[in-house]
Amino acid sequence: MLRPFRVSQPTSVTEACAELARLGEDAKVYAGGTELILLLRLGLVQYSHLVDVKRVPELGELAWDGKAMHIGAAVTHRRLERSAEVTAHLPLLQQATELVANVRVRNVGTIGGNLCFGDPHSDPAPALLVHDTRVKISTHSGDRTIGLEAFYIGLFETAIAPDEILIELQVEPLPPGVGSAYLRAARFERPSLGVAVAVAQHDGRLANVRLAVSCVGPVPMRLQELESRLAGATLAEAQQIVRQAQRHYKEVLQPVDDLHGSVAYKTCLTGVLLGRALAQAVGTNGSN
Ligand SMILES: Cc1cc2nc3c(=O)[nH]c(=O)nc-3n(C[C@H](O)[C@H](O)[C@H](O)COP(=O)(O)OP(=O)(O)OC[C@H]3O[C@@H](n4cnc5c(N)ncnc54)[C@H](O)[C@@H]3O)c2cc1C
Repeated sequence: MLRPFRVSQPTSVTEACAELARLGEDAKVYAGGTELILLLRLGLVQYSHLVDVKRVPELGELAWDGKAMHIGAAVTHRRLERSAEVTAHLPLLQQATELVANVRVRNVGTIGGNLCFGDPHSDPAPALLVHDTRVKISTHSGDRTIGLEAFYIGLFETAIAPDEILIELQVEPLPPGVGSAYLRAARFERPSLGVAVAVAQHDGRLANVRLAVSCVGPVPMRLQELESRLAGATLAEAQQIVRQAQRHYKEVLQPVDDLHGSVAYKTCLTGVLLGRALAQAVGTNGSN
C-alpha cells in the first residue's frame, strides 16, 4: 500500500532545487518512478513529498553540440534507444539501452533515475563509463560537474546529496577508428553481468582499449590497469589476458556470492564476456 504523499511539479532547475532545500529529508526527486514507487509501495522508504523533475525543460533535453551529446537526466531509455543522433554518435549506449528491461520500463524509466538509484545492475552504466561520461549536478547553491566514475560510491550509493539533482550527462563519441560492443548475461529482470568495450586495431595490435564492467561488484567500474595491459597485444593475446585475469577481477571488482552467481562464476564470466566483446568491437571498426 502506498502511503499518501504530495507531489510538486517545478518547471525550472532553480525551482526544483529550492523545493528540495525547503522540504529537506521529507522529499525525494521523482522521475519515471519505476524504482521509487516500487520502494514506496513495499514500505522500504517513506517520503511525504516527491519533487517531480519531468517538467523541467533542461532535464528533457537531448542535443548534439557538435562535440558531445547532452542527455537530460529525465530522458527516457526509450528516447535514447530511438534517437538517430544517439545511434550515430553513441552506438554503444544505444546498444546497451535497448536491452534495458522491457518496453514498458524503457518508456517511463529515465537515464538519470538509472544512475541515481545506484544499482550496480545497470546496462547503460558500463557503456557510459567507456565514454568517460561527465555528469552535471545542481543544488540551490550552485552546479558541479564530475566524472561518472566518481559519481558511483558504493552499493545504491552515489555522489548525489539529498538536496542535489542530476541535470544532464555529457557524453563524447569514441575517437575515430575505435569500435565498441556491449554484452550482458541476464538471468532475471535486470542484468546479471554487463561488459562494455571500446578498442582500435592497428597492424594487428590493439590500441585505445577501454573496458567497463557492471553487476559484479558494488559499483560499475572501468578496468584501467587491465586496459593498459592490453595495449599493443593482438586480439588473441588480449582475449587470453582477460580470460586469465580472475584474481584481478576479485581484487578490483570485489564480487560477492549472490542470486546472480558465485564469485567464481562471475569472475569467469567477466573474462569470457570481455573476450567476446573485444572480438565484436574489433569487428565494428575500420581495423587494419
Ligand atoms: C522490472 C524492472 C526491470 C528492470 N530492468 C533493468 C535492466 O534490464 N537494465 C537496467 O539497466 N535497468 C533495469 N531496471 C532499472 C531501470 O533502468 C530503472 O528503473 C529506471 O531507469 C529508473 O529511472 P526512473 O526514472 O524510473 O527512476 P525513479 O524511480 O524515478 O528514481 C530512482 C531513484 O533515482 C532518484 N532520481 C531520479 N532522477 C533523479 C535526478 N534527476 N536527480 C537526482 N535523483 C534522481 C530518485 O530519487 C530515486 O532515488 C529495471 C527496473 C524494473 C522496475
